[in-house]
Amino acid sequence: MGLARHALVTGGGRGIGAAIAAALVAAGHRVTITGRDAARLTSVAEVLGENCQALGMDVTERTSVDAALALARQRFGAIGILVNNAGQAASAPFMKTDAAVLQDMLAVNLGGVFNCTQSVLPDMMAANWGRIVNVASTAGLRGYAYVSAYSAAKHGVIGLTRSLALELASKGITVNAVCPGYTETDIVKEAIANIMAKTARSETQARAELAKSNPQGRLVQAEEVADGVLWLASEGAISITGQAIAVAGGEVM
Ligand code: NDP
Repeated sequence: MGLARHALVTGGGRGIGAAIAAALVAAGHRVTITGRDAARLTSVAEVLGENCQALGMDVTERTSVDAALALARQRFGAIGILVNNAGQAASAPFMKTDAAVLQDMLAVNLGGVFNCTQSVLPDMMAANWGRIVNVASTAGLRGYAYVSAYSAAKHGVIGLTRSLALELASKGITVNAVCPGYTETDIVKEAIANIMAKTARSETQARAELAKSNPQGRLVQAEEVADGVLWLASEGAISITGQAIAVAGGEVM
């Protein structure tokens, strides 16, 4: 095992973020999980034990991010690993996607990565070491109908990842993205409910519809995404930077 670091996982209270936090704690790191739902975050942190702390933070607001990270450092020190996981997915046909939805998708999925990365980078620059992993999506690598605003924001995350990787290449800091396909979390539950509401499909049919896009014919599990993040956050992954790695059963290649 490498050195124990202070890792920050945004949106760590559920879904993929909670699985990433659990994997990082199991690997020996001190982990701060953040989000807007304080009660949920606290219950996850209690399960993960003394090497995990929960803090309220809205990634769309830089002042909220800076305040939370100042508190996070007080207990666990400078941040070495940043996992930008917080995100939201709105779905609608393009002509029913109003400008406010586009702004929301950009603010949380892309602006959130921007805010948290700017707030954390001084720690990494001072240490000459850092690992930034952005949880993007296969929707950052290819298009999907009815999620144009989300897909635009996730493509933006990939662009930011690649450019920042070059900017930081000589500083001991890597910047990568993982791109999950449909993963069994609340986001997918909502997508299933949406399909059921808008079509005559049953829950089983709606699930099968989503799983069909994955050549393995299954939904990705949050722990599988966490495994990829853990590797990118490791000491040995120093040569991997600027990459967007699909965790999607071969859906994108
Ligand atoms: P969930 O909806 O289960 O979790 C989303 C997390 O993001 C929550 O912890 C939520 O915390 C947090 N979050 C949302 N908005 C904000 C905000 N403004 N400020 C701070 N935190 C926020 O989703 P998943 O676990 O499925 O998704 C995690 C990431 O993975 C997202 O970026 C998503 O786009 C991406 N992804 C998911 C896929 C899937 O199929 N599930 C596929 C591809 C990518 P809180 O409510 O407490 O604020």
